[in-house]
Amino acid sequence: MRQLLLDFIESDPFDMHSSLLRFVGKCLLIAACLVGPEKVQAGDRPNILVIVADDLGYADVGFQGCKDISTPHLDSLAADGVKCTNGFVSHPFCSPTRAGLLTGRYQHRFGHENNPKWLPDSLVDGLPLSQTTIADVMRTAGYETGCVGKWHLGAHPQFHPNRRGFDHYFGALGGGHVYLEGLKGSGEYVIPMDRNGTPEPMQGYITTQFGQEASKFIEKKREQPWLLYLAFNAPHTPLQSTPELQKRVEHIANVERRNLAALIVGLDDAIGNVISKLKSTGQYDNTLVFFFSDNGGPITVSRCDNTPLRAGKGSLYEGGMRVPFLVSWPKKLPRGKTYEEPVISLDVFSTAVAVGNAKTSSTHQPEGTNLIPHLTAEIADAPHQRLFWRTGGGISWAVREGRWKLVGKKGEKPELYDLAKDIGETNDIAANQSEVAERLQAAYSVWDQDNVTPVFESPRAAKPKANTK
Ligand code: CA
Repeated sequence: MRQLLLDFIESDPFDMHSSLLRFVGKCLLIAACLVGPEKVQAGDRPNILVIVADDLGYADVGFQGCKDISTPHLDSLAADGVKCTNGFVSHPFCSPTRAGLLTGRYQHRFGHENNPKWLPDSLVDGLPLSQTTIADVMRTAGYETGCVGKWHLGAHPQFHPNRRGFDHYFGALGGGHVYLEGLKGSGEYVIPMDRNGTPEPMQGYITTQFGQEASKFIEKKREQPWLLYLAFNAPHTPLQSTPELQKRVEHIANVERRNLAALIVGLDDAIGNVISKLKSTGQYDNTLVFFFSDNGGPITVSRCDNTPLRAGKGSLYEGGMRVPFLVSWPKKLPRGKTYEEPVISLDVFSTAVAVGNAKTSSTHQPEGTNLIPHLTAEIADAPHQRLFWRTGGGISWAVREGRWKLVGKKGEKPELYDLAKDIGETNDIAANQSEVAERLQAAYSVWDQDNVTPVFESPRAAKPKANTK
């Protein structure tokens, strides 16, 4: 404002010789100066950085108690923000979680309940065009929007990030990728990187490159605030890394765990670089950062550690969709706090809209909650009365209400757990707490009424995993 007025007076654009107009202009300038220092970011709105890991276990990072893998940068982020111990994603595997995250709605509402196949000719296998994304909304509110990393929301050009609200995109468009050029892989795992619709060769280790690309976006120091969705494919399979990373985890005996650990160390390094860039450009304090995994850790192939949770990726036991979950905004949120009420990835959308002073249309109804007043304790109540999950079009489902968790599988009697006493879901108490079980089942039925049949099938047919050990 002040700069605009200065420019206006100095340039005298209207050949302004009128002393009256000059007088008015100077009065406005003085008023602007009295308001205080000029704000670089319009309306003082924060930048929003959403960092998503891929297939990271609940206990695979230091701030969650991990001992064998060092993640100092993530631990530092936790120390500067709020750790949500009941942080959930809306699905126990990749693409549906991302669909829910970007729309702020349960992805079952619009049939995005499976992973899309890699089909560049398919107009169906991807995030339905009927849906508004967080990038659409924040861009309309004046945010620069960027996406770096794994997309996994459709291969056809109509689903490209640049068509879904992101001004800038660099990354791997499929569901995963090899980590270095020339390493073993097939299909979408070996396609070139994509930069705003143009193919481009990989440049070194993919996780490092994603961190660098994110840092470049941040360094541009745009005059308006920005939203950056940074979706790493690490530590998803294939468990490939560099000799340097391998050396840093050679103390781990199990070969799969060691290979996984190298990927996580690389992920932490890349996040460290991004955070460092936020700090060096003076943007750290006023950037709202979310960090979480897109689903729970796979425990058979990757040897992730979801301790003390039951099962892992694909399951609707806690290990499938309860994940490491951080929220940091030094200017606004408390530091080093632990928050225990359930939160979910759908909340990112509603929080971004609130802090960015953005607006959604009447036809797009986000289902998350603005977490900020809850994390600052301005609001003491839990953000959600209940949370819901469904996979395979209803083959498996679950409901969380306070301490209670009901887990159902088609054709079987639902199981009820008291998570306050039994976080590992070992003791089914449905028979002893039949009223609670019936209440949660009824709530699921009501929630499910607004869901639709999945609009595309997964590359592999969905299998019921609710009872995976
Ligand atoms: Ca995943």
